[in-house]
Amino acid sequence: MIDKFNNTNLKSITALVDQFGRVHTNLRISVTDRCNIRCFYCMPAENVVFRPRDELLSFEEIVRFVQVVATMGITKLRLTGGEPLVRTDLPLLIRQLSAISGIQDIALTTNGLLLAEHAAELKSAGLDRLNVSLDTLQESTFEKISRRRGIQKVLDGIFAAREAGFSKIRLNAVAIRGLTEADVVPLAQFSRDHNFELRFIEFMPLDAEQQWNENDVLSGPVIRTMLENHFCELLPAERTEPSQPAVDFCFADGRGRIGFINPVSQPFCEDCNRLRLTAEGQVRNCLFSTEEWDVRRLLRSRATDEEIRQLVRDSVSAKAQAHGIGSPEFQQPARAMYQIGG
Ligand code: SAM
Ligand code: SF4
Repeated sequence: MIDKFNNTNLKSITALVDQFGRVHTNLRISVTDRCNIRCFYCMPAENVVFRPRDELLSFEEIVRFVQVVATMGITKLRLTGGEPLVRTDLPLLIRQLSAISGIQDIALTTNGLLLAEHAAELKSAGLDRLNVSLDTLQESTFEKISRRRGIQKVLDGIFAAREAGFSKIRLNAVAIRGLTEADVVPLAQFSRDHNFELRFIEFMPLDAEQQWNENDVLSGPVIRTMLENHFCELLPAERTEPSQPAVDFCFADGRGRIGFINPVSQPFCEDCNRLRLTAEGQVRNCLFSTEEWDVRRLLRSRATDEEIRQLVRDSVSAKAQAHGIGSPEFQQPARAMYQIGG
């Protein structure tokens, strides 16, 4: 109780507000750049060079960083990667993070391939929420996207997670024009039948091969029309969290919800409250930032908490107003999605 009181006091002193008034309360932590598949919108097909193990932050270093930023108003964490479930002993990290005063919610984004074997352990370690990436229900399309086979394992993972007690599982589908149109209705049907919340995500220019083209984006508004034509009207859902990237809708027949994350066609930068920590300890203020702040150096050099806080404040102060995709000045970051942490 006393801890929480102190934490609240500290927050009011050090809240992470940027120059546009955005208050940062969310941290995405990449725990690895490794992955067991090779989605074309994220990783190169072959010859991926991963960071050597000793360059990745240890659990102790991640925990120290979170302890510090929790005093600055960070309350929600999302673990990601690469594929977070390939990092050994992840439940151990979750257990430690969930014990940090001020941390109210821990989520995980996974491709689901290893979920069946880890779901129960993740739940008992204190993981609150789970997002599973599911772009298609067809093995052939799964293989085209991820350059590997395994859709059944992903589906098994999703149901194992529900079995393990994750009551609200969100499915994330990256939508690609010319490739996943035929998946839109089946994915929605699947989500309605099994009571999962589905979110379509627009393809962003973060692919390692830098082949992204605006014409490849199957936009949220187009998908919405496809769904309304097939099912029924989509009614705007109440927006409980203004900073959430998704705009949610309910099917008018009362059977399910659907969300759209439209960073390309409808950017949501003005409500962004997220910071990122890469697997090798760089703080980023945006997915599309071209600058990083090296907190690993501080974590490995006996720096004080205040020095770490100052680095985080510097990163927040430098945050751009918007990502600028589509503008002539836009530059795709040198690092791809798997190296940043989605
Ligand atoms: N490996 C895990 C997974 O795939 O769920 C976590 C990391 S992944 C980078 C996080 C999310 O980013 C996934 O939902 C993935 O589909 C999405 N993603 C990756 N590259 C993307 C891109 N270029 N545009 C939009 N979403 C992307
Ligand atoms: Fe791996 Fe996730 Fe990137 Fe796909 S999107 S290659 S699953 S990190």
